[in-house]
Amino acid sequence: MLGAPGVGKGTQASLLAQGQGVPHISAGDILRQEMKSETNLGREAKSFVNQGKLVPDELIINIIKNTINGRNYQKGFILDGFPRTIVQAKALDSLLQELGKKIDVAININVSNDEIVKRLSGRRVCENCKENFHIEFKAPRVMNKCDRCGGRLVIRDDDKPETIKNRLEVYKNMTEPLIDYYEKKGLLENVSGNKSILEIKRDIEEVIRKKGQ
Ligand code: AMP
Repeated sequence: MLGAPGVGKGTQASLLAQGQGVPHISAGDILRQEMKSETNLGREAKSFVNQGKLVPDELIINIIKNTINGRNYQKGFILDGFPRTIVQAKALDSLLQELGKKIDVAININVSNDEIVKRLSGRRVCENCKENFHIEFKAPRVMNKCDRCGGRLVIRDDDKPETIKNRLEVYKNMTEPLIDYYEKKGLLENVSGNKSILEIKRDIEEVIRKKGQ
């Protein structure tokens, strides 16, 4: 799942994973979990994540390798937030080749920059189960309380305005080139993110249905 921060990658990856009955592997969620548990990895990642910078390629590549390796993901999996650089994309290609797997599709969700800032600044995340909400577009039934588990909803440290700006710049310089990378491999499918969550979900399902034919 490709796209700038805030386009709804995580939300769509989670819905898609539920629909297809496959695991949702979110690089950001794994890093936040490591940070919360204050592991060595988490400590190493923290300053990068909180400033809106990318963590070093080697660190995230190892995390993803450890997550995928040795697990029997027969029906595949959905990667969200990885790869984010060309180096990571090449590492993923080698890893999948070793495992005898391949990427079926790279879905790129497109949203304008103004809209992204609006979305990120209204985002709230359950500190317990990590479910995403939005004060305007996906409001919880009870204010500041998670619909799924009742946990407290918080603003992510990296959703603060200055950090949002950094993240968008990092995206443009480091991650956007992946669109070309997957286009050249014939794997890219663009989906408009300027729609409701359910409409985008339907568009993505349609792309996947066509790919499966
Ligand atoms: P996300 O939840 O996907 O927006 O990721 C949150 C933060 O985690 C990013 O702003 C980065 O600091 C870090 N991060 C997540 N995925 C990666 C990745 N593939 N490469 C480097 N840093 C990452």
